[in-house]
Amino acid sequence: MNRKLKWAIIAFVAFFAIGGVTFLLDHKDDASSELESQIASEALSTTALESTQAVENLPSATVLSLRERMEQLTSVAFDGRYPGTEGGRLTEAYLVSEMRQIGLESPSFAENYLMDFELILPVHKHLSTLVLETGEAKLVFEYGEDFVPFVTRDFAVAEGAFSGKVSVIDDPFKLVDFDYYGHPEIVLYKESAFSGIGYESLFAQILEAPNRPKVILYESAQQNSGHFVLSPYSRRSGVNDNEGGLFIYKVSPEAFAMIAANPKAQLSGTVDAVMETIIANNVVGMIDGSGDEGVIITAHFDHLGNNLDGTYNPGALDNASGVATMLAVAEQLVTNPNPEFDYYFIAFNGEEEGLFGSGAFAAEGVLSPAQFHMINLDMVGASGDVKLEIASTSEQSLPYQDLVIAEALEAGLDVIKTDKGSSDHVPMEATGFKAVSLTELDKRYYHTPKDVTDDAVNLEKMEKVVTFVLGFLLERLSTLP
Ligand SMILES: [Zn+2]
Repeated sequence: MNRKLKWAIIAFVAFFAIGGVTFLLDHKDDASSELESQIASEALSTTALESTQAVENLPSATVLSLRERMEQLTSVAFDGRYPGTEGGRLTEAYLVSEMRQIGLESPSFAENYLMDFELILPVHKHLSTLVLETGEAKLVFEYGEDFVPFVTRDFAVAEGAFSGKVSVIDDPFKLVDFDYYGHPEIVLYKESAFSGIGYESLFAQILEAPNRPKVILYESAQQNSGHFVLSPYSRRSGVNDNEGGLFIYKVSPEAFAMIAANPKAQLSGTVDAVMETIIANNVVGMIDGSGDEGVIITAHFDHLGNNLDGTYNPGALDNASGVATMLAVAEQLVTNPNPEFDYYFIAFNGEEEGLFGSGAFAAEGVLSPAQFHMINLDMVGASGDVKLEIASTSEQSLPYQDLVIAEALEAGLDVIKTDKGSSDHVPMEATGFKAVSLTELDKRYYHTPKDVTDDAVNLEKMEKVVTFVLGFLLERLSTLP
């Protein structure tokens, strides 16, 4: 279904392109010979101009190394960098080797740059399915594009299967009145039916309702580049027992229309995820200065892994960009002889699954909030036209946040102050650190297989963040509030 639509778009673009070429040719036929000779006489100077521009446009050494690290971090081998997977472990090993090569030291509290911790996260054993069958036809929906299931929330089934006929709910006044609908097993909510109601409060009401259904599907048009936002779905604490939970699926408007138009068809689905306890590592390197104060520069390297369907989530902007930026800063800072300050560089793991790596590091208490400030990098150098958010979540960070913002404005960055708490600064601030988190929230490819370097990232823009952070670390540390 979605594929067909894509083909239609490609065919349209091709038609338009051919039309454009024809137009240019026609236009050229009209051109006078005078104009043509004028163009010919200008050819030389134009060539000269172009070659000058080519020299000016050569990527800098920083951009080249940013590109190389982005390529490695987003590679097929790293497979979306999910904690506990082979791709996750290869990424840890790569970061150790990069930190060593740059010339960072392994801190005394780490073991060969590694600090391990335990985390519980959802692991999908098989691809979730959703299939619509009539007597004659069978329609297999595409995971990610047509639907995504909720798993491992405390109200959602993580493992199981269902099959039955669907009832459509589009009356906002009877959202949880399942008696009205004749005790349906599977319900399909039209997006307009629950506008203004939070999904989670709706699910909570459904769980309380007598005669409630087993399966909830709800229409959602909130997609990035034709793909639902993926997540490990584990941020809530409780894990369901698979007994009293609901099967919950989010479906695209196209899939919704197809299911709603076939009320006599059989809809079936499976989800197959388990919660696993695994050991993962943060990767930590340092530059040991003459004093005992300094800055912790951090960026999470984990992402969402693969999708069990031959695709994976490269996480270029989220957050290979932050890791590459952090390593570029480290690389240039390490050549600064006899620094006065200590610099720690931490590639956090387990961020997407619930800030586990930074939580574990903060709980270790190996660095003192009285001696260290923190700069977190989570999505920087976005290709889209978005502002650089500089976020802090605690009172103690405010003067520091204002200073970083003032410096960023002075460096010509387009910044905005926020109090968003969706990254690794949160557990660190909770244990008393003064911290800022830098984010360019370009949502176009966010948490989809399409978050690739060529589309989602602008390396020249990322280089500006490197320059800014480096300048700040070299010039402003003695005046930190
Ligand atoms: Zn993310």
